[in-house]
Amino acid sequence: MKLRRRKAASVNPEEAIVHRNEFMDIFKYMTEHGHEQLIFRHDQQSGLKAIISIHDSSPGVALGGVRYKAYASEEEAIIDALRLSEAMTYKFAGAGLNHGGAKAVIIKHEGIRSRKEVFKSFGRLVESLQGRFGTGEDVGTNPEDMAVIATETKHVFGIPEALGGEGDPSPITALGVYQGIRAGLEEAFGSDRVAGKVIAIQGCGNVGRHLARYLHEQGGRLVVSDLLEEQAQQTAKEFNATVVNPEQIYEVACDVFAPCALGAILNDRTIPRLKCRIVGGGANNQLSDAVDGRMLHERGILYLPDFIINAGGVIFLTHGLRGRSRAESLEETKNIYHTLKNLIEISKREKIATSEAALMLARRRLAQDKNSFSHQQA
Ligand code: NAD
Repeated sequence: MKLRRRKAASVNPEEAIVHRNEFMDIFKYMTEHGHEQLIFRHDQQSGLKAIISIHDSSPGVALGGVRYKAYASEEEAIIDALRLSEAMTYKFAGAGLNHGGAKAVIIKHEGIRSRKEVFKSFGRLVESLQGRFGTGEDVGTNPEDMAVIATETKHVFGIPEALGGEGDPSPITALGVYQGIRAGLEEAFGSDRVAGKVIAIQGCGNVGRHLARYLHEQGGRLVVSDLLEEQAQQTAKEFNATVVNPEQIYEVACDVFAPCALGAILNDRTIPRLKCRIVGGGANNQLSDAVDGRMLHERGILYLPDFIINAGGVIFLTHGLRGRSRAESLEETKNIYHTLKNLIEISKREKIATSEAALMLARRRLAQDKNSFSHQQA
C-alpha cells in the first residue's frame, strides 16, 4: 500500500512531515520503524473513521491514547498514528514499564453527528482486539469520552474518578514535566530553583495549564500561547502570565521553552529562532526528525526528551495493572527528575545529544527484555 505525499503550503509542522516527499511506502515505513500492525475501521452508521497503530507488543500489552482530531488528509492521520505509537514503545521502555506502544486516532469530520456514537463505535473496535490494545485520553479526548468507550470494552484507562476510574492523567503528566524541568535547571544553572526563571509554555490545554500551575506556585515567570486565544488568556489570568501569539512563542527570550501542544514543532524552521537554554515540555514527538535533537545539542540547548519527561500520565494510568497504589505512582512520576539527571550524565559522558541518549536507553531496555523473554522460552 502506498501513501501519497502531497506538496502543500501547510503551516502545521505535523502536516509538513507528510508533505516532505511525494510518496511514502507504508510497509517500508513500518519495516524501518518496527511497526507490527495498522488497523482501520470505518463505521458507516456513526461515521467513525479510526486508525489504530500497534508498534510493538513484545514487551507486553500495547497501550496508547486515542486522539480525536481533524486532519488535512488521511495520510497525515496514518503518519500521526504510526509516529505516536512508536514513541509510546520508547516511553514505556524509558519508564521501565512492561508495555508495548500503540496509538489510535479518530478522524474528526463533518459527517459525524454524535460524538457519543463515534466513541461507542470506537469502544467496540477496541473490544474486538480482545485485549491486544488498551487506550486512554489524548489530544481532543477527555475522561468522559473514556467513560463512553468503557460502555463497550474494559480495555480503557482514565475514566472519571466519580465512575471508579483513574481520572484525568494530565495533572500527573504535568507533574512529571515539572520534575524534569527542575533537573534541566539544575544542569543548566546549578540550581533547580524555579523562582525567577522565565518559562514559555506553548499550548494551554490539559497538560500546559497544570504545568503553568506548578511553575507559578514555585515563583516561575510565565509566557504562554495557544491557538485558542481565550484559552491562553484564561491561563494568563490564573497564573499571572504574559500572552504572546503562537508564532512569537519560539522567539521569547526565556530559560525554558515548554512545548505542550502538538508534535514536530522542533524543526529546522523553529530551532534557529529559539532563545532558550532548555526545551522541556509535555507534547509527544516534539522533534520533527531525529537530526533536530542533534541540532538543539549543537546550539547548546538542553533538550529534555519528550518520551521521558512526559511519562507521568502512563506511569499513573497503569498503576492498577502493575499492582501499585496511586501514591506510589506519584512517587514514580517524581522520579522523572532522577531519570533525566542520569540521562544528561550519559549524554555528556558519551558526547551525544540527550535525544540520542534517550533512544539508546529505551532501545537497550527493549533488547534486554526481548533477550530475557527468549531465554524464558528456551
Ligand atoms: P489538549 O488538546 O488539552 O491541549 C493542547 C493545546 O494546545 C490546545 O489548547 C490547543 O489549542 C493548543 N495548540 C495546538 N497547536 C498549537 C500551536 N501551534 N501553538 C499553540 N497552541 C497550540 O492536549 P493535552 O492533553 O494538553 O496534550 C498536549 C500534548 O501533550 C500532546 O502532544 C499530547 O499528546 C501530550 N501528552 C499528553 C498527556 C496527557 O496526560 N494529557 C500525556 C502525555 C503526552
